Amino acid sequence: MHANNGPTIVFDNFPPVPSYVRVMEFSVTDRSVNFEHLCKICSSSCHLQSYLRLHKVLFNFHRRCERCDNGVINLRRDSSTCDGQVWRCSNKKCNFKQSIRAHSFFSGSHVSLHLIVKVVYFWAHQYPQHIVIHETGISEKTIIDFYNFCREVC
Ligand SMILES: [Zn+2]
Repeated sequence: MHANNGPTIVFDNFPPVPSYVRVMEFSVTDRSVNFEHLCKICSSSCHLQSYLRLHKVLFNFHRRCERCDNGVINLRRDSSTCDGQVWRCSNKKCNFKQSIRAHSFFSGSHVSLHLIVKVVYFWAHQYPQHIVIHETGISEKTIIDFYNFCREVC
């Protein structure tokens, strides 16, 4: 009767606004965040990921696994991904695995999280592009793409 499309997953912690808006919010409106503070947050990828989850920029997918209906989705170390962690089912027979970037502002990008967060911060505080290139080592083309994207979404 039912096609096997899998269950519809509803995230109760899904924010009402897109995650890029949240990045802008804590970059611009949180006056306690200056560049030194941001660098401290970015100094550990675990710390940064927790911070981004707290601000609903990355999402918490911890839940019972709908695929096997047996395991629990937990955050696990995974050195094969650039972020070092993935969401994975605790049931060893189930191979459910999901990027920590899923459904977020960062999905689809291969640039590291801390660099993206810094570029958004630089954009929000109107740093000239040549300074951003110097501070991040990211190519001019990528910086221009990010700046254009930030302008479009704001
Ligand atoms: Zn599972």
